[in-house]
Amino acid sequence: MYAELFRLDGRAALVTGGSRGIGLACAEALGEAGARVAISARSREEGAKAVDYLKQKGIEAIYLPADVSSESAAQEAVRQAAEALGGLDILVNNAGIARHCDSLKLTPETWNEVIDTNLTGLFWCCRAAIGMMVAKGSGSIVNIGSISGFISNLPQNQVAYNASKAGVHMLTKSLAGEFAASNIRINAVAPGYIETAMTQGGLDDPEWSKIWLGMTPMARAGKASEVAAAVLFLASDAASYVTGSVLTIDGGYTIH
Ligand code: NDP
Repeated sequence: MYAELFRLDGRAALVTGGSRGIGLACAEALGEAGARVAISARSREEGAKAVDYLKQKGIEAIYLPADVSSESAAQEAVRQAAEALGGLDILVNNAGIARHCDSLKLTPETWNEVIDTNLTGLFWCCRAAIGMMVAKGSGSIVNIGSISGFISNLPQNQVAYNASKAGVHMLTKSLAGEFAASNIRINAVAPGYIETAMTQGGLDDPEWSKIWLGMTPMARAGKASEVAAAVLFLASDAASYVTGSVLTIDGGYTIH
């Protein structure tokens, strides 16, 4: 009985930023559990590669080109996914960017780029999906936050990123409260250091690696699949009484 709670047969899912890293792992996890999957991202080349990768895993996914930092494109991506998949039961808001910059040097363009992608775009994707889910009477949204939404993550200077992720956590709780009675569950995960293109520079830097490995009780970086497993749980009926939660996946980094 319990294993069946993780099955997503007959459900339709959109993963934003699903072309690589954590998003691609989420698409694989949801597809393997039986969901029909759409992924969106800006690069068509990477989108096509991701679809090929998923096909090799036995998952038929579709790619939708979209830049979620634009409100209209974010909403359109959700609309197109629902049209192509015949509805939308699950939304994973994963698209995100990180920019490291001292606050006194940060330009308005960089601030806006980060906030528009990580927070504002995520809200518009949520809103477009929630409209459909309310009409259907059910739905599950999982937002990808970060431990950077709880801690300043020194010595990296990334004020816009940290603020955007704290915003994602609070947006998740706010929307969860607003739509709980409509049978829509809205949760977030807060990953720590996960091996992806986003963190490659830091992980390849021996000095930086030493700092964060020393602060991580499990003494290793996480894998995208370890985030995807938690996303699958939250998206599925296994988490049927879970809403408004922010699940930390960081090898213990934020324990102390
Ligand atoms: P990657 O850089 O590997 O992947 C990011 C994905 O988002 C790509 O598919 C990218 O495709 C897409 N994306 C970026 N900007 C946009 C945009 N404007 N519109 C649509 N798609 C976009 O990063 P990760 O897999 O590491 O990160 C995924 C999420 O997890 C992010 O939200 C990140 O903040 C979060 N996270 C990551 C951690 C880590 O350690 N890796 C830790 C905590 C949180 P394209 O560029 O083609 O658009």
